[in-house]
Amino acid sequence: MHDIIIKNGLIIDGTASRPFEADLAVKGQHICQVGRIKDTAAEVTINAGGCAVAPGFIDMHSHADFSLPVHPTADSLLHQGITSAVVGQCGLSPAPLLEETRQAVVGALGGFFSGVARTLPWDEWNTFEDYLAFLTGRGDSLNVLPLVGQGIIRASVMGFGEGRATPDQMAKMKAEVSKALDQGAIGLSTGLIYPPGSFTATEELIELTQIVGERKGFYFSHIRGEGDTLLEAVAEAIRIGRESGAAVQISHFKAARQSNWAKSPQALELIRRAQAEGLDITADLYPYRAGSTSLATMLPQWAHVGGPAETLKRLADPQLRQKMTADMQSGGYARGIEFQDIMITAAPRRTEYEGRFISDLATTSGQSPYEWLFEALLQTQLDMSMAVFGMSEENRLQEIRFPGMMIGTDGAGLAASGPMASGVPHPRNYGTFPRVLGRFVRDLKILKLEEAIYKMTGLPAGKLRLSDRGLVKPGLAADLVVFDPATVSDPATYDQPHRYAKGIVHVIVNGRFVVREARHTGNRPGRILQPTKP
Ligand SMILES: [Zn+2]
Repeated sequence: MHDIIIKNGLIIDGTASRPFEADLAVKGQHICQVGRIKDTAAEVTINAGGCAVAPGFIDMHSHADFSLPVHPTADSLLHQGITSAVVGQCGLSPAPLLEETRQAVVGALGGFFSGVARTLPWDEWNTFEDYLAFLTGRGDSLNVLPLVGQGIIRASVMGFGEGRATPDQMAKMKAEVSKALDQGAIGLSTGLIYPPGSFTATEELIELTQIVGERKGFYFSHIRGEGDTLLEAVAEAIRIGRESGAAVQISHFKAARQSNWAKSPQALELIRRAQAEGLDITADLYPYRAGSTSLATMLPQWAHVGGPAETLKRLADPQLRQKMTADMQSGGYARGIEFQDIMITAAPRRTEYEGRFISDLATTSGQSPYEWLFEALLQTQLDMSMAVFGMSEENRLQEIRFPGMMIGTDGAGLAASGPMASGVPHPRNYGTFPRVLGRFVRDLKILKLEEAIYKMTGLPAGKLRLSDRGLVKPGLAADLVVFDPATVSDPATYDQPHRYAKGIVHVIVNGRFVVREARHTGNRPGRILQPTKP
């Protein structure tokens, strides 16, 4: 007898080959049969007529490691059909924490994940192993592949200072990377626009990433620039891959701000050439025109030196405000961003700002947008996030077709009610995968359905060496999504983001229903996954 039989579905098997109608049976944690099933006895039988049956989606860029400790059911992700997520991104992971510096490091994380990071039970872990044991002991609804963040390690060893690491500091950081890899990290991530990643020289990154390369691990990077310096930043990531031997993933690919839109195809061409050279380098994106990050990212890099307490002191100094304004106008992340394109997404200490644009907030308060920004960062102790509308829709349509392009939410596991429903976070937290399937595949016909599913399943599983997942095939883990291609959609908007995807009917993780008839069951069958040995 089978545990689950899914009858009459259109199987999209994750290889990009043509869909076919078949039944599928699950026994225990695995898919046991695909085709005409004769022994129809099962605990649960589902008629999937009219629906697609695909491997569970793999989220290549997730910050759920900062939400899972307080919200293990990760509702906004499961309702998209996500069954596995690569976490520990952008140089930020909740571990390791070193005893001497943990308070400063934990304090500095608040501004990045407004509302969520501050509520984590930080005392539950020190090492990477502790953190993973915490997740495993309590159980999550999806599988997790954890990276260790370079920013966390550098902040723990060197603080938020600029400059090169001393040999002693370098040895300490390398030891921490090794230890995390021993304890379950699949690789290293960087966030090279965020301090202290932004203070780190390429050579230092290469030296650290070599440890990853030796173990055939992964280097995931929020690269050093996604606007004016996009091409240089892609070239840096390629160089790190070439000189370290690590497989490279360029995170949340984009060309930000209109003056840089022409760089998108050029950046993809750099990646294509590196692939042709034999390097393992791919990328992921979320299918939206706006990005989202901490509001403090707008400040020049020098304003971040020494950590958040120093930044707040500088924000209070009128002369330094003038210098910040001048530097934001002439270079760095903020250059060329219009304040009418920046929406506040989270401000737990000033919720009245949420959902409004800076240009509008500044007009209301009778300040210049710069003065408003500096005041708001002071009032909220940097604990604010924003969405920035700055990408080209036309570029997005081309980028998603790039052969090495996968999908990542850049989101966390939120929920449409309760404490995880606060603020107006980027809709990508709820809508990324269904938006690709609904808008890009069905409505705009940019990709075939099986090509899109491949980018969400077989392609990332191959990259990550998840040899038991990513395909609908007997013997593989039963991570499955049953969805309706005619209705799959993303009702989450910038104004009303806390809305679950539509058309995602059933989601099975390791053989157990986590979403059934479009409702989260509360089950937590997720596991920590590891790549198979090369
Ligand atoms: Zn990032």
